[in-house]
Amino acid sequence: MALQDIRARVAQAEQAAGRSPGSVTLIAVSKVQPLDRVVAALEAGQRVFGENYVQESAGKWPDLRARFPDVQVHMIGPLQTNKAKLALDLFDAIHTVDRPSLAEKLARLVQGQGRCPGLFVQVNTGAEPQKAGILPEAADEFIARCRGMDLPLQGVMCIPPEGEEAVPHFRMLAQIAARNGLQGLSMGMSSDFEAAIAEGATHVRVGSAIFGARSYA
Ligand SMILES: *Cc1c(COP(=O)(O)O)cnc(C)c1O
Repeated sequence: MALQDIRARVAQAEQAAGRSPGSVTLIAVSKVQPLDRVVAALEAGQRVFGENYVQESAGKWPDLRARFPDVQVHMIGPLQTNKAKLALDLFDAIHTVDRPSLAEKLARLVQGQGRCPGLFVQVNTGAEPQKAGILPEAADEFIARCRGMDLPLQGVMCIPPEGEEAVPHFRMLAQIAARNGLQGLSMGMSSDFEAAIAEGATHVRVGSAIFGARSYA
């Protein structure tokens, strides 16, 4: 497993960007990976993980949390409104607040329970029709709307279009965060996390470079 190597590269990229050590959270994206690889990462000291599917997480993380109580699991995949309640029980952060109906549902659920995961607004920086996320030109209004519902927003998140230079998307996301007074920048994956750190990422989501290729079979 390449975890130590990726950690070293994150630390190097922090230093190269003049950022303090530990300012970037490495999210190890463990979706559809065999359990033994996830346990190996936990045993190597990794404590922050990313998942895309509510069902898969529900089958995996309650047991792992019992063994590793200080673990944090971040939801980074699309979230159906009817799974929002389960998601609040399962996750320490949700990076994919991407539409008003989901924000409203989360706000209602959170009111009743007084505890809320860290929330990131997903921005569709490439305005791709098939991709989730708020369009860049609608982001400010949506962020204000979430705040109006008392949702505690931590930051913004993006997935740049495949096959395009990612840096302009990282910059656009950083600008949206800055002008809305948000600290969190969830951006950068296996192929571009160093570039994302140079552009200010606070959370990088790295899967295959840590665990190896995913097999969906
Ligand atoms: C799967 C996934 C990742 C990890 O992708 P890798 O290329 O394997 O690092 C990161 N972010 C999101 C939103 C994902 O769905």
